Amino acid sequence: MTDSSNTEIRDQFWLRPLAELSRQEWEMLCDGCARCCLKKLQDVDSLKVQFTRVACRYLNQNQCTCKAYKTRQFKVPDCLVLDMENLPSALHWIPETCAYKLRFLDRPLPDWHPLLTGNRTAMIEKGISITGRILSEDNVHENGLEEHVIRWVKA
Ligand code: SF4
Repeated sequence: MTDSSNTEIRDQFWLRPLAELSRQEWEMLCDGCARCCLKKLQDVDSLKVQFTRVACRYLNQNQCTCKAYKTRQFKVPDCLVLDMENLPSALHWIPETCAYKLRFLDRPLPDWHPLLTGNRTAMIEKGISITGRILSEDNVHENGLEEHVIRWVKA
């Protein structure tokens, strides 16, 4: 489990098991793609999750950051603050490219990950960032999500 009092950053920490990461290392693992901030639909029978191109209203679409980071759980009660305890039960909807999912499954980070390249350029060129490809939920009727299902993000 992540130790919130431990802020150590070790060389190539992303090669270590998730459970051994310090709080700061855990935070740094996020690639900042914001794919997890997209609205999802789940089939009631198959439970399969589909992503839409509709993003949370609090997402800064250019920077892929949350505009309400400190109060997000109050403003969006189902916004998940990912940790080692809730990660396993969220795997069915977490994007397949997500660093937390990959490392939980003992897979390596992709070669475009900012921790490996030192910047976000390769990630953006690869189409991983959602910037420029999405709509805010403020501009979409809540019953109209099905019209915006996408295939470029999968769980
Ligand atoms: S999908 Fe994963 S890597 Fe991408 S922003 Fe969300 S938590 Fe970070």
